Amino acid sequence: HARRHYAKDSSEKVAKFHGQKGSDGLYTVSLIEGDGIGPEISQSVKDIFAAAKAPVKWEPVDVTPQLKDGKTSIKEETIESIKRNKVALKGPLATPIGKGHVSLNLTLRRTFNLFANVRPCRSIAGYKTPYDGVDTVLIRENTEGEYSGIEHVVVDGVVQSIKLITREASERVLRFAFQYAQDVGRLKVRAVHKATIMKMSDGLFLGTAERVSKDFPNVEFDAELLDNTCLKIVTDPTPYNDKVLVMPNLYGDILSDMCAGLIGGLGLTPSGNIGDECSIFEAVHGSAPDIAGKALANPTALLLSSIMMLRHMGLYDHAQRIESAIFDTLSEGKSLTGDLGGKAKTHEYADAIIKRL
Ligand code: NAD
Repeated sequence: HARRHYAKDSSEKVAKFHGQKGSDGLYTVSLIEGDGIGPEISQSVKDIFAAAKAPVKWEPVDVTPQLKDGKTSIKEETIESIKRNKVALKGPLATPIGKGHVSLNLTLRRTFNLFANVRPCRSIAGYKTPYDGVDTVLIRENTEGEYSGIEHVVVDGVVQSIKLITREASERVLRFAFQYAQDVGRLKVRAVHKATIMKMSDGLFLGTAERVSKDFPNVEFDAELLDNTCLKIVTDPTPYNDKVLVMPNLYGDILSDMCAGLIGGLGLTPSGNIGDECSIFEAVHGSAPDIAGKALANPTALLLSSIMMLRHMGLYDHAQRIESAIFDTLSEGKSLTGDLGGKAKTHEYADAIIKRL
């Protein structure tokens, strides 16, 4: 049951993938292995894709930050690779706290204008969590809000971080959310906001949502205050199983981690950063420096992200086959990684999946 839902609610029908198959019959995908556990979990994806004969050729790209005119940027050849291939799979990148270069994750989103972040969270059958049958879909505005990077010192001891909301970016992500809802048949969109306090910024987002909803008469629309959503979701997540939640950037960042907690943690949650020209798929979790290099990482989140990517590319059969093998392995419970209470090393878990392909 959970498996069917997973497939149904992927970004498959809203995909805007115009990638080219090579003469060898393979699609080239840019691969950012990432920091910390990134190389280990990327290896699992590569091994499983190879065993499943997924028609994908990996093009590893370098995202070492470059400083250009005082701004963080990424290498031209990396940008070209992702633009050419239209899709990338990305491992986690470590971000320095409070100083140094701008987050590379942010730079990637800005460079490719990846305006919508899709984050599904579904319970894994057989893996015990406080709630069964969780199935939330959250779409986060991915380019502005508190992440606009506009900060300054007013006077010593007083700083401002500007939350920037524009009608254009709001409308873009809202249209995407309504279109997604329509395409996957999850016909209720709920805007999550705090317009009671942020009357202007969240007010603009909410007003735009109300206006956009008129263009989607077969999709039900309502709105909910963020604090209320948090309280209700942790009390009983099931009323959210038929909704697409859409919200400004920071709220989506936090709320999606909360949803991840409901299904057993960050090791299990995938995401897609969707733009008009290209899309980058990545796990929600970070580089987990505490367990890096020890073969303890759970590659499931990156694997499920790679499955969202396959569906985005129209490779539904391969997506389904790999996804079933993952869910069967998790449900059986014999080869789980440490974060899920098991003893398997990263590659042992990947091997168990390969045996079920
Ligand atoms: P984290 O997600 O890396 O780790 C949080 C906890 O979850 C750790 O205990 C870690 O061991 C565990 N964990 C995470 N992923 C796991 C997995 N696949 N398998 C098993 N356990 C897993 O968060 P953090 O420690 O706050 O951040 C570490 C670094 O990652 C920071 O530099 C942060 O900026 C960066 N980060 C990057 C991204 C991204 O690339 N999209 C996202 C979040 C954080």
